[in-house]
Amino acid sequence: MIDRLSIYDRQSIEQLWRELRVDPHALRRFRNVLLKHGGSDEAALAELPEDVRPSFAERVELHALELHSRTDSRQDGASKLLFRTCWDMLIESVILRIATGRTTLCVSSQVGCAAACQFCATGKMGIAQNLAPAEILDQVVQARQLLASEGRTLRNVVFMGMGEPLHNEESLYATLESLTAAELFHQPPSRILVSSVGLPDAMIRLARRFPAVHLALSLHSANQQVRAGLMPLARRFPLAELRRALVEINRIQPANTEVMVEYLLLAGVNDSPEDAAELIAWLAGLRVHVNLIPYNPIDDAPHLAGSDRPARESFGARLKAAGLKTTIRYSLGADVAAACGQLVRKENRRRISVQSSGLTQRS
Ligand code: SF4
Repeated sequence: MIDRLSIYDRQSIEQLWRELRVDPHALRRFRNVLLKHGGSDEAALAELPEDVRPSFAERVELHALELHSRTDSRQDGASKLLFRTCWDMLIESVILRIATGRTTLCVSSQVGCAAACQFCATGKMGIAQNLAPAEILDQVVQARQLLASEGRTLRNVVFMGMGEPLHNEESLYATLESLTAAELFHQPPSRILVSSVGLPDAMIRLARRFPAVHLALSLHSANQQVRAGLMPLARRFPLAELRRALVEINRIQPANTEVMVEYLLLAGVNDSPEDAAELIAWLAGLRVHVNLIPYNPIDDAPHLAGSDRPARESFGARLKAAGLKTTIRYSLGADVAAACGQLVRKENRRRISVQSSGLTQRS
């Protein structure tokens, strides 16, 4: 059996193109339909000369993932897509159709996550398998195809799904290269956001390599002890180091680019006036935008509860009064996002136990 080429492997595809001796413009049209416009596989293949299609389809892998299921929010415009990887593991992507028409896709970069944040079902999975660039990019291709069938276009790609993207740095960089490449997706870097739990050196490396790509930091507390209680990695990367990294990133990135600071509001944990004061002091002098996020409870963290709306609003008002750019987020797709990571976690556990008991045969 021939090893099939990835559609994103530019060198190999161009080599194949030369072998097949066909018009180079046909390859450009094929890529435009599939990667930029979200056309169907058939529509993209129709751009190739008829005599070339069978050998092209035989030699080139168009998709790295198989769509397992789709759940649409009953409350708003969110859809959760579950994909099966070639290792028979599930990952999820979420499409957010915002009322303004700006559609965002949240992609996963790993199966599971080693960061083990207390409030996250994915972090409780106990496994972390890196996704290959083709597996991250195929989430974009398939979401774009789905949206195109509704007459919509994808505007933003955010790395906020399963996994810590900077624990899979090599794949992340290759993915960003392909996403921003003019002959592939041609996604403006300013419409890409990478969210990290806070790995200072890796965040600086990312800012150096892709200065126009937006960065988000999952901060969740400006108190070292509270933060370390919520996020085990905070013990390795203390707040002082993170702040130094943000100063450096602000220096590297364009002057109009802010680092997004993600802050999950948890009742009695990080939502008091003192917590707000600590946050204001910690962010002083930085070019940031604070996002206050409501918490979706998970089965594995019964000790955590989200702050109620008045508490979230008064916390936000304190930040705004101190001159911090702040957005108080209300849940989008709460009914599908509420189970974020949980369904996948259960399914993947079952798959691992079946695989290790030798009952599964991968096709
Ligand atoms: S919140 Fe993000 S970094 Fe933390 S465990 Fe979950 S997926 Fe990993």
